[in-house]
Amino acid sequence: MTKITIAKGDGIGPEIMDATLKILFAAGAKIELDEIQVGEKVYLSGNTSGISQDAWGSILTNKVFLKAPITTPQGGGYKSLNVTMRKTLGLYANVRPCKSLHPYVKTKHPVMDTVIVRENEEDLYAGIEHQQTNDVIQCLKLISKQGSEKIIRYAFEYARVYGRKKVTCFTKDNIMKQTDGAFHRIFDEVAKEYPDIENEHWIIDIGAAKLADTPEHFDVIVMQNLYGDILSDVAAQITGSVGMAGSSNIGASCAMFEAIHGSAPDIAGKDIANPSGLLQGAILMLKHIGEREAAEKIQNAWLRTIEEGIHTADIYDEKISTKKVGTQAFADAVIANLGKEPRKFPVANYAGDATFKLPEVSLLKPSIKELVGVDVFVDAECSADSLAEKLNAAQVDDLKLIMITNRGVKVWPGGFKETFCTNHWRCRYQIEGGAVVDKKQIISLLTSLNEHQIDVIKTENLYNFDGKAGYSLGQGQ
Ligand code: NAD
Repeated sequence: MTKITIAKGDGIGPEIMDATLKILFAAGAKIELDEIQVGEKVYLSGNTSGISQDAWGSILTNKVFLKAPITTPQGGGYKSLNVTMRKTLGLYANVRPCKSLHPYVKTKHPVMDTVIVRENEEDLYAGIEHQQTNDVIQCLKLISKQGSEKIIRYAFEYARVYGRKKVTCFTKDNIMKQTDGAFHRIFDEVAKEYPDIENEHWIIDIGAAKLADTPEHFDVIVMQNLYGDILSDVAAQITGSVGMAGSSNIGASCAMFEAIHGSAPDIAGKDIANPSGLLQGAILMLKHIGEREAAEKIQNAWLRTIEEGIHTADIYDEKISTKKVGTQAFADAVIANLGKEPRKFPVANYAGDATFKLPEVSLLKPSIKELVGVDVFVDAECSADSLAEKLNAAQVDDLKLIMITNRGVKVWPGGFKETFCTNHWRCRYQIEGGAVVDKKQIISLLTSLNEHQIDVIKTENLYNFDGKAGYSLGQGQ
């Protein structure tokens, strides 16, 4: 008997959780439940994290968590509990299988069978945002080498263990050469260790278009957090319905299983939601805790039910379906099919699934770090030329102003009058010839800028790592 933590969540959460649990127990899954409250009620009771200490205790003790979707109240300083949980528990791998069920569920993509492996802990989801001037707000995209290597290795290991042929990486490294560039480079490095698995890289814009148009081209796709979040919804939706896909969130000590969709408040309480997404999440959980037989039994009964045309409203099509059912009736139909196998779909058999061992990070090596300049960000209502004049009047030591950019594009020296400028300027200082900078020189520069009434809003040190610039050039530089 395995004790698992469950949360019924918000919106359609309680209905689809009841339906899912009913099926799990009818299939003889050896699980014991420990129910916690998370989400809207907890937020609105004044706890802005959406989860109590006791609830954390249950998850940390049981280490396996089946969670129905929750509603994040809009605005008001509430942080997304989903993101908090994934990050706090170190659940770095979000695995989202998206498979079409043609011809029984209407889809334009009959042979789609794609697994999205989404990085779950970093990227823009660090949620570090600052308004720096009246006009400009920034959100930090943080990518670590360890985080990238962990998720990329996970994708290759997953492919190997589950007999997948290819791993594709999507990035936007033609624009974000440092962050996405590192992710792509690490992908290429890790791929060399898996010669048995094909690998490829796509720039994400055309990759996303290809996924939406020809998903059968892809097998496993590994992506950073934001890209993976968006494209896994697209992938699930084009199989037939976002209500059909489940996901696992895996870390070194805990795991959380859920549907990929949200709490669907528009259909809550009407007994029309499709419980399949959460059921698929629960099947992934049963496999994770070693309840292989129950997992197979449920998957086969579910496939049989879908084949029989017993469908919830989101996938109901009068040309294909035989019966439109509500959430609980769908669960009852699956229960009635327990012990039966699908007639057309391949029968689920998880015997061959090897035990999945989380990969170790190994590519990291120390590098030589040298300070070679500083970007000083300034709030100023003036032209680039007059700002350069004021900055030059405040110059100290050998640190020289070499460039000013506005929202990344070079506007001094030699800017274009056509370029639209905000009041947010990046002013780059370096020593001629690229010599190493002493931090004291930066402190003197900042003191002088302050004395000259320049409104410095932040600085970013410029480092070389092993002689290679760890910072981007200005656009047009
Ligand atoms: P959503 O996924 O809840 O709903 C999008 C659309 O899909 C709606 O029309 C909905 O009716 C439909 N839909 C979703 N699940 C369905 C199902 N099982 N059966 C039939 N139809 C289904 O997305 P949203 O409306 O953008 O978000 C609603 C709330 O859910 C928000 O508060 C959001 O923050 C939250 N959310 C939570 C999670 C999570 O808990 N993991 C994930 C995404 C969104």
